[in-house]
Amino acid sequence: MNLHEYLGNRARKTIMKSVCTTLERNPEKNIPRLFKMLKLLAKDEDSNKAIRNIETYYSDNPSIKQLIDSILIETNPKFLKKFFVNFIANAIWIGGKKRSELLENEDIKVPFTLLISPSMRCNLHCTGCYAAKYDKLNGLTYEEVDRIIGEARDLGVHYIIVLGGEPFFVDFMYDIYKKYDDILFTPFTNGTLFNNDIADKLVSLGNVMPMFSLEGFEKETDARRGSGTFNKVMEGMDLLKSRGIPFGVSSATSTNNLKTVTSDEFIDMLVKKGSRMNWYFMYMPVGESPNIDNMLKPAERIELGRLTKKIRSTKPYFTIDFFNDAPYVGGCIAGKYYCHINSNGDVEPCVFAHIACDNIKDKNLIDIFKSEFFKGLRHRQPYNKNMLRPCMMIDNTNVIREVSEKFNAHPTDESAEAMLHDKDFQAKLDKLSSDFKPYADEAWEKDFKSKGNDSFAKG
Ligand code: SF4
Repeated sequence: MNLHEYLGNRARKTIMKSVCTTLERNPEKNIPRLFKMLKLLAKDEDSNKAIRNIETYYSDNPSIKQLIDSILIETNPKFLKKFFVNFIANAIWIGGKKRSELLENEDIKVPFTLLISPSMRCNLHCTGCYAAKYDKLNGLTYEEVDRIIGEARDLGVHYIIVLGGEPFFVDFMYDIYKKYDDILFTPFTNGTLFNNDIADKLVSLGNVMPMFSLEGFEKETDARRGSGTFNKVMEGMDLLKSRGIPFGVSSATSTNNLKTVTSDEFIDMLVKKGSRMNWYFMYMPVGESPNIDNMLKPAERIELGRLTKKIRSTKPYFTIDFFNDAPYVGGCIAGKYYCHINSNGDVEPCVFAHIACDNIKDKNLIDIFKSEFFKGLRHRQPYNKNMLRPCMMIDNTNVIREVSEKFNAHPTDESAEAMLHDKDFQAKLDKLSSDFKPYADEAWEKDFKSKGNDSFAKG
């Protein structure tokens, strides 16, 4: 390290320390100072621009101001600090530099986040669960999860999403969360196991911020997840809110619940419960008995994107639409910004694309990221010019078939088998794709002026 770098690092550490101290004491009273320090820390232009944008939204948009103020006032300071250090500093800045160097020097694209399903065991049996066909008896061991996460961290990954199955069924994950306290973890949970003991454990960790699955109010949620589920989730939220633990909600949208999960009543209820964000997914034709009729109709899929944006700009609530926000991240992110390790150890490029060439039991993560399969897939991205049609399974249906054949990827469950080899099922998916195209083309021009994030799109 030369003198210039040494001094730069020292200055950075001093500013980081000041940010942490400010977050621990009255952060809401020091917001201009916080923005100033964050801009000093963010050396790269993209991060700096993102902070400037948030600052502008904060001063110009009352709902964003309300959201940020309430997060700073109501969140347990330990979580604020962990979010800043683990997510902003470690995952975006420090990890980002490491990942960029690997890409520039060795053409290895290390994803920003890793999704991992340690086990498929679950106390519920939800209709249309994308993961229903995975093996429920076996799972990854503590040693395997420990190894994967250690390798990921060494490669600059500091944000991990934990799926399943029900993540809170896997006791050893608490040891993982504790051991990797420089990583931010987001378990996606059905919320039915929460009690005082679990909430206290999360407080003592500080780096675990859950997302509760909800398909709407009691009627919609219980119809899919079983009677009593909605009320258990409400109790879980109360336990976290009372301790200042930040959390969000993930909603699978289908033609049956689109209106409900984007309604003012639903969002207002969640804001009141203490949730900070909603992550909208679309019901996908994977998992148990995939039913294309349950998927959003073309106009509904576009409407979801517009409603998501409206909530984001009018409510003190952050929203992400996994599909309609794709233009902001350059289209499909499979195998590029994220991937999924299933409970068998197969490394799938996307949590919905149940195909794999490699298993973490046979290879190190870095060798999987530099495999021909991952490289070949990302070099095809974006699959077309319209980033509102990002998907290799439902919008560009040839892609999953061609890459699987070319790289000899195997299906990791029955529904992927159908996607790759069942002609009738393929014809239905092709129709779905061609039906959606005119709607997507119109919205691409109208809502995005035919422009997405080209620099993120490159594989
Ligand atoms: S394959 Fe489809 S679902 Fe998966 S990341 Fe790409 S666009 Fe999203």
